[in-house]
Amino acid sequence: MWVAGNVANLTQRVIGAAGEGVRAAAAINTDLIGEETRRAVAGRRLPFSARMEREASERVLGDRRHGL
Ligand SMILES: Cc1cc2nc3c(=O)[nH]c(=O)nc-3n(C[C@H](O)[C@H](O)[C@H](O)COP(=O)(O)OP(=O)(O)OC[C@H]3O[C@@H](n4cnc5c(N)ncnc54)[C@H](O)[C@@H]3O)c2cc1C
Repeated sequence: MWVAGNVANLTQRVIGAAGEGVRAAAAINTDLIGEETRRAVAGRRLPFSARMEREASERVLGDRRHGL
């Protein structure tokens, strides 16, 4: 959770609260980019997972498959 302004500091003034708001927004944006990147990388790796290899092997080789 990210907070800014009086909810984080009761003695905050307007200019300080606004500055913290900008920093909180940048931190939230960084978190979202990180999460999107992690999901994209996981999605890119998916075709090479053990499960996908097993399914492809069964589809292509059927009863003639070995291992997996
Ligand atoms: C009497 C007084 C005089 C001041 N004079 C000055 C001054 O001259 N110069 C100066 O720089 N600073 C002054 N300040 C400080 C300044 O008001 C604060 O630093 C500034 O407003 C903090 O901004 P904020 O966004 O953190 O909070 P806020 O401005 O209080 O904004 C919070 C908002 O959230 C809303 N909210 C609360 N709960 C919920 C909820 N559950 N759901 C949805 N919305 C909700 C509130 O209604 C409010 O609109 C003064 C403060 C007071 C009390």
